[in-house]
Amino acid sequence: MAFRLSNLKIRDQILLLTVPPLFALLTAVGLLFYGYWLVAQTTNSVEKAQESVVRTETLLRHATEMRMGIRNYLLTGQPSSFLTDYHLSARSVADDLAALRALESPYPSKIAALEAIQAEIARWKQQWVAPLLEGGAESKARAKMAGEKEENRQFRMVRDSLLQLLRQEQKATEGRIAGAERMMHGALALGVLVSLLFGGMLFVLARIVGRMIEHPVQQLIDASERVTRGDFHSRLPLEVQNEFGTLAGSFLHMTQALRHEGEELSALKRFSEAVTQCTSENEVYDHILHSLQERFHPSQVIIFRLRPEEDLLEAVATLVPLPKELRDWPVMEGKHSCKAVRMGRPFRVNDVTLEPLCPGKFALPGEGSYYCGPLIAGGIIIGAVRLEGARDFWTPERESLLESYLSGAASVLSNLRLLQTMREQANIDPLTGLYNRRFCEDYARKLMAMARRKDTPLGFIMMDLDHFKSFNDIYGHEVGDRILRHFAKTVTQAMRETNLTARIGGEEFVVLLPDTGPKACQMVAERIRKAVAHMTVPSGTDKPLPQITVSLGVAVYPSHGTSLEEVLQASDRALYESKRGGRNRTTLYVEETETAG
Ligand code: GH3
Ligand code: MG
Ligand code: MG
Repeated sequence: MAFRLSNLKIRDQILLLTVPPLFALLTAVGLLFYGYWLVAQTTNSVEKAQESVVRTETLLRHATEMRMGIRNYLLTGQPSSFLTDYHLSARSVADDLAALRALESPYPSKIAALEAIQAEIARWKQQWVAPLLEGGAESKARAKMAGEKEENRQFRMVRDSLLQLLRQEQKATEGRIAGAERMMHGALALGVLVSLLFGGMLFVLARIVGRMIEHPVQQLIDASERVTRGDFHSRLPLEVQNEFGTLAGSFLHMTQALRHEGEELSALKRFSEAVTQCTSENEVYDHILHSLQERFHPSQVIIFRLRPEEDLLEAVATLVPLPKELRDWPVMEGKHSCKAVRMGRPFRVNDVTLEPLCPGKFALPGEGSYYCGPLIAGGIIIGAVRLEGARDFWTPERESLLESYLSGAASVLSNLRLLQTMREQANIDPLTGLYNRRFCEDYARKLMAMARRKDTPLGFIMMDLDHFKSFNDIYGHEVGDRILRHFAKTVTQAMRETNLTARIGGEEFVVLLPDTGPKACQMVAERIRKAVAHMTVPSGTDKPLPQITVSLGVAVYPSHGTSLEEVLQASDRALYESKRGGRNRTTLYVEETETAG
């Protein structure tokens, strides 16, 4: 998935977490505006209340002036100045009442009180002022007579009502101011509370977001540090439902792959160490079979050894025994019939029922897959290994792992074979192909120890070519070498395979004959002597070589000596006797020397 900031789940989660603080912030802002509006409203209402108080006071003053005007007129009878005062005050009273009605319009009780005051003033006017102003002196006197007491009462009512209204107004103003103060305190407290809530939510949000990021990041850092130390058992934030969870999942897969690879590598290392310590090819084969079975669980493993000189591949080891008909001759004839050997690289069939098979056809499985990998060491193919298993088993990773096993095994096998060749070469005389003196002595000691244990005889035939020096001198060194090679071949052919022939000197040889007594040894010696006496060696010229002969001395353990040195000395003495007796003869070392030929 392409990485884009808008696709991040953690971004959505953080955004979701910001909703409550955002809501608190909006509430705080709303409350601020509401408080501002309330203050404006309250100020307006208090101002109106104060204006009402002033108006009511003015009304009281004008009403008092109105009454004073009419009373002064009554007392003095001067209409000009006092009646003018009355009329002006009466108009002001009407204006005040109208203004108060407008101010108190939202309060019906106040309007009712004002109407009552207005009615009382009207009644005062009607009963007291109107008769006074309409009539003449008589009516004035009547009005004075009839009404002074009543007028007093009526106007006191007006004044009391006005004073009561004034007190109400003052009380209302105080109440509104107190209410406004309460409201402002409340709004302030609510604002502080919401701000604290907002701050608290921001703090919690910061903590949660911190934990959301900090905790998984720390776990991932710890895990990667542990992996670098080779510890793959890490606690990872897999349960987290965001990018950290995804990252942890990927990290887990990576560490699992690394661990698996590490395990494979250490298994391969163990295998390499084990095979390097092997001293024989069979031991290596056992390790190959065991390790491949452990790593790949195949149904069959066949290890082939390439024999180039015979042009064949021999099955030298198998996990499961081969079919009966193949066991006696477990061989794939023609090394190129194996595709892996021919191509010098692995050959794989994923499904034997669908794909073309190897032309070698050697014990191929009837179903599943198989893989043949060549064993290559130093660029030379020394064999092949076949693994059989389930269908479509092979993946590039498995193939590469198997190749590592095979290349390790091939190099060890090649080293072992080289060592074997070198060992053989160290024991073999290069001119004749017979064993050399050192090997002969070692082997003779072993044979003698065995003969001693089994209480069986061990025969020695010492041989020396007759007048060999003169052959060399007359025909040359090369002809001398040729004679030596022919002699070696003749002796080998004249004997059983269990007997060992060695060249122990220039033209001196020994034959070891296990479990052979003096008479039988003597017979073998005679057979050799006669074969040599009939041997023809090409001279390289027209002139044939004179007949080559050999003198032989026979001695047998334990009859003629109990140690190797003693028996060798005895056979040497017998040989000397043969020379002394005229050469081309066999002498058995006994008390009396016997001569044949
Ligand atoms: P005798 O019948 O008494 O044994 O006489 P001989 O000449 O065989 O005995 P001698 O020991 O005097 O001679 C051995 C000769 O073998 C001397 C040497 O030149 C020769 N010789 C030794 N090693 C080799 C070799 O590797 N090649 C050749 N061509 N000659 C060798
Ligand atoms: Mg000699
Ligand atoms: Mg000689």
